[in-house]
Amino acid sequence: MKLITIKEAIDFVKKDVKPIGIEKVLISDAYGRVLAENLKSGSDHPEVDVSAVDGYAVKAGDIADAAEKYYIKLVLADTIKAGIEPGTTLRHGGTVLVFTGAPVPEGTDAVVMREDIQIDGKNILFKKPIGSGKNIRFVGEDFRKDEIVVSKGTTIGAAEIGMAAEINRSYLFVYRIPVVSIIPTGDELLELGDTSPGRFAIRDSNSYTLIGLVKQAGAEFSVCRRLKDDPIATAETIKAELDRSDIVITTGGVSAGDYDFVKKVVPEIGVDVIFHGVLQKPGKPILFGKYKNNRYLFGLPGFPVSSTVGFLLYAYPLIRALAGFSGKELPRVKATLKEEFHRKKGKREELVRVKVDYNIENGFTVKPDTKKQGSGILTGMVGDTALMDVPIGVTDIKKGAEVIIILIKPISSFGQLS
Ligand code: AMP
Ligand code: MG
Repeated sequence: MKLITIKEAIDFVKKDVKPIGIEKVLISDAYGRVLAENLKSGSDHPEVDVSAVDGYAVKAGDIADAAEKYYIKLVLADTIKAGIEPGTTLRHGGTVLVFTGAPVPEGTDAVVMREDIQIDGKNILFKKPIGSGKNIRFVGEDFRKDEIVVSKGTTIGAAEIGMAAEINRSYLFVYRIPVVSIIPTGDELLELGDTSPGRFAIRDSNSYTLIGLVKQAGAEFSVCRRLKDDPIATAETIKAELDRSDIVITTGGVSAGDYDFVKKVVPEIGVDVIFHGVLQKPGKPILFGKYKNNRYLFGLPGFPVSSTVGFLLYAYPLIRALAGFSGKELPRVKATLKEEFHRKKGKREELVRVKVDYNIENGFTVKPDTKKQGSGILTGMVGDTALMDVPIGVTDIKKGAEVIIILIKPISSFGQLS
């Protein structure tokens, strides 16, 4: 097994990856998807000059000399509601009542707010001057005809949906969501609720952790097919799922054990093994392969923390890239280490489980969960956990030092930030 570095492995995974396809969705279903087209407007917005307030359209010059004691009178000539075409042109000595969003009559150069005038029968009294252009939303000030209002590759949020509606689009072209099949392997695995084989069996938690991770990455979970350590069933099931899904994720069966059949059968079913084994801790025996056009296989190790870390480092960015997202990897941020860190060997890059704290003054601060670093210790992953990236060759990090952490959960799921 030739081991490569994490960086090399990530580069292999991301190499030549393109979004898998495009589909049409209603704008009301587009939240969180990635836009696969440039959104262009067919007209200016606003289409005409409109009033930004409820008030009186004036020629600024007519009231240039107005003052509290020397008010100026203009004659009310018309009223215009929003959505109605003006029937009048504004003339010197006249004013027109306009409501918010209403088109201003031709010849207007400002709108005086209702609060700033007094009414005297048919006359409107102005007590101060106004700058030209005030309280008018000019034609095209939001966007122009043929302007790109949302660019291809943008993740669609609420504002983008609103923009689509503003330009009269009821549907959008977005990138297709990758579909993922999960195949946990191992004679020892127990389904939920099954107690028959007693305490020597192992509850299959990986399947469920992975369903959560698939959701976190924005992919679609297809099916979970739990397998015994059996080479024929392993080969047939992996192949069948590769033919149906974009990504197949197995757990177990990739290390050096006699019953580790995943790594043995994978080359026989037409998977091109790109790497098997990364200089990382946890999760060293991870396997990555490509199948036909744009199909991918991750053989994750069986231990719950190893498989989770393997997913986050490699499957996560692959899913994001296939789904068209621009930010592909999980965010890496600087943090201050609150306790010194020591390890015996520095041969592998280590992803140390740390508990994270955040506040405005100190930014991110982290504490390694020293007793919770085993590959099988899933309790080390729950709660406000991040992964501290300890490079190859580093064995000691001083208290107070700046470290790099990987935020493995969305910010909104950190207890103190939500
Ligand atoms: P393996 O990589 O197949 O040698 O598995 C290593 C260890 O990971 C096993 O002995 C189990 O303790 C654990 N394990 C394997 N598969 C699962 C699973 N689906 N859920 C939870 N733990 C697992
Ligand atoms: Mg096994």
